[in-house]
Amino acid sequence: MSELSFDGVTIRYGHGRHSLTAVDDVSLTVPGGEIVGLVGESGSGKSTLARAAVGLTPVTSGRITVGGQPVPTRGRRPLQMVFQDPYLSLNPRMSIGQSIAELLPPSSRADRAAEARRLLELVDLAPNRAQQFPSQLSGGQRQRVALARALAARPEVIIADEITSALDVSVQGTVLNLIRDLQSQLGLSMLFISHNLAVVRYVATRVVVMYRGRIVEHGAAADVLEEPQHPYTRELLSSVNGRTPGAA
Ligand code: ADP
Ligand code: MG
Repeated sequence: MSELSFDGVTIRYGHGRHSLTAVDDVSLTVPGGEIVGLVGESGSGKSTLARAAVGLTPVTSGRITVGGQPVPTRGRRPLQMVFQDPYLSLNPRMSIGQSIAELLPPSSRADRAAEARRLLELVDLAPNRAQQFPSQLSGGQRQRVALARALAARPEVIIADEITSALDVSVQGTVLNLIRDLQSQLGLSMLFISHNLAVVRYVATRVVVMYRGRIVEHGAAADVLEEPQHPYTRELLSSVNGRTPGAA
């Protein structure tokens, strides 16, 4: 999988005196085959950065590339996004199987149905779930389907934005374990976004800390967590110490 790079990216909402700089000169790289955790409190600009990468929010200045190329917004998409609310990626009127098959490369109907079932197994769901509808699944199961759907598109990189934040703590752990399994099985590249450092540290090898639109600290997860340099990172860390949802 190729690398995702943000290079001096600034994103402003609105114009003139009323404009708000949500992302301020951010540079960060998700190397191929790695999970980079992006952490910061609510409103720090994480989702704005994610949405810009997939073309949902215009970039004011800077560059976003995948494998060194600008991210195409039509045709085959090298980036897939999974959201906090699975209904943003799953159509409630489509069966699980149809939702997944929709993003598969063109092939016969039977082949796509078989591939959808394989993807369901990959995310630890029974293949016969393909006939069910999103409303028949639990929140954790719906996020598994959203991940299967993202994988169907064979993206270079997946952006996961707060995908466990709406789940019960016990279910969060199982989804985080799935992310770790998929990373080691498939060599997944992922930008994993959460406001919760305990969640991020469970899956990420590198951690980037964002505060008010800027990156205040980044490095190997172990270094950032053991010796945080920035007071804001220390604050985030002290608020999660003693709680490890992944292990719960
Ligand atoms: P996070 O995902 O870290 O919580 P966001 O990227 O959602 O942060 O928001 C960053 C800042 O941009 C916040 O101050 C938020 O209010 C503002 N913002 C987000 N989306 C919009 C929008 N569509 N229009 C105007 N301001 C926005
Ligand atoms: Mg957000």
